[in-house]
Amino acid sequence: MFVDLRDRTGIVQLTLDPAKFPDRGDIRSECCLAVTGLVHERAEGTKNFRIPTGETEILVESFEVLGSSKPLPFPVSDEEQMATVNEELRVRHRYLDLRRPVMYQRLAIRAAVIRRMRAYLDASKFLEIETPIITKSTPEGARDYLVAYRLEPGLWYALPQSPQQYKQLLMVAGVERYYQVAKCFRDESMRADRQPEFTQLDIEMSFVESEEVLQLAEALAVSVINGTIEEFGVDKEAVGPFERITYQEAMDLYGSDKPDLRFGLKLFNCGPILASTTFGVFRDALETGNVVRGVRYPAGGSLTRRELGTLEELCKEFGAKGMATLVLGPTHEENRGSIARFLSPEEVAGIKAAAEAEEGDLLCFIASDYATSCDVLYRLRLEIGDRLKLRDPRILKFIWVVDFPLVEWTTDGARWSAVHHPFTSPKDEDVHLLDSAPGKARANAYDMVCNGYECAGGSIRIHRPEVQQRMFSLLGIDDATQQAQFGHLLEAFSFGAPPHGGIAFGLDRAIMLLTDTENIREVIPFPKMGNGIDPLMDAPSPIDPQQWAELGLRLS
Ligand code: ASP
Repeated sequence: MFVDLRDRTGIVQLTLDPAKFPDRGDIRSECCLAVTGLVHERAEGTKNFRIPTGETEILVESFEVLGSSKPLPFPVSDEEQMATVNEELRVRHRYLDLRRPVMYQRLAIRAAVIRRMRAYLDASKFLEIETPIITKSTPEGARDYLVAYRLEPGLWYALPQSPQQYKQLLMVAGVERYYQVAKCFRDESMRADRQPEFTQLDIEMSFVESEEVLQLAEALAVSVINGTIEEFGVDKEAVGPFERITYQEAMDLYGSDKPDLRFGLKLFNCGPILASTTFGVFRDALETGNVVRGVRYPAGGSLTRRELGTLEELCKEFGAKGMATLVLGPTHEENRGSIARFLSPEEVAGIKAAAEAEEGDLLCFIASDYATSCDVLYRLRLEIGDRLKLRDPRILKFIWVVDFPLVEWTTDGARWSAVHHPFTSPKDEDVHLLDSAPGKARANAYDMVCNGYECAGGSIRIHRPEVQQRMFSLLGIDDATQQAQFGHLLEAFSFGAPPHGGIAFGLDRAIMLLTDTENIREVIPFPKMGNGIDPLMDAPSPIDPQQWAELGLRLS
């Protein structure tokens, strides 16, 4: 009788001689088994060269079932079948799901990434410091998780959305170089790449400007990622050095502040080319302050009407009124597409040059306000990249996006809000804009982006109390609220605070990139489902009447 025995390193075949063991006793699938036996080479003809341990087996002398097993809710040894298993069922029995080698590998890669981060930062003289989980509300833009204070009903702690204020206070304390593998809590609407609690590698440094933070963070990322790729034989090319582009360039060329630069297909702007066009639709758009921008679909001239239709549907879904097309032919007369006959040869030549297009390419145009055109063309470009298989999974294309705006006008149109967070400093040369044109002021803020995802973000902070107060006022926080919410920080800054700045990496995101997973739950040992529920522990759950009473709470 043959049995596959699995431990965390893999499987090995056991052979039980029927003469010695007339029945297999309690050995059942997924039981916990101890065996004593002789490891030996399998006989010729019985070797299995497709599995790593296929040339050996263990001839069992004795065995003991340490823990029996009921039939499993899903077959953990069959990856093909596992792909069809309901995810909530897997999470409910996560301790079984984690028996699968792929899941173990993700845990191992996660551990290796954290180990390498710690090693790098320890060697660079950073101090790992824990900051409180039960604390005061920290404004990072999301809703807080609240914890009732038993001793004085009506008062609440909040779980930190990040250790932002504590790490700044550590700089005032003279720590100079801090890091933490920190849990952050944000009560946001859930998405495939979000969890109510997630892990950041959080870093802060004193006496630095953006350049030093960028260099440290890039060297750290290169060391950790390349080291992990090598350690696990991950099928990816080594990363670095990282290109840098400004926020404005990112929006102009890719329509997004987190562009996927594994491929080109830069967006092009037709404004200057069409300045005196006779084509009414584009002329009207440009005259009313809108833009006409486009993206190239290489060899897209061969798309069927139907394929074109789905592209146009996509644009509408993302907010465009429509999509105009131009297919470049060998001569002007042979150009095709919805707007071919409205454009002059000179206009087409200008557009062709701006798009870096060739004969046979399809050019897709959007006429709309700048923001909508960014949104639509960003997604259209990714769609074209997907269709043409330009988003190579073997490449992790890291870039820096720098010079973010300091504030933006909120969508409800009522006030300015911080693009990064309220502690981010404006660029020195833009401070004068704070009163006259805050929306034009740039921040000392940067994001590390990979393959279209934000991996890390940070900034140089404000460290002077009067500048911080001015920033709070700009954000519409009145003096009394400033004192109530941030009095501690303003006071700390009045005791000789050093200039400082930092960054935080999303750890879960990094593991997703290294393991080619698109669902954040796959890289988290015990995740919450999309509705925030933990089906394993059955949390959240009701509490005892006595706990309600202790906290002085009643449902209204
Ligand atoms: N606390 C920031 C965040 O969570 C990161 C930083 O500015 O260092 O996004």
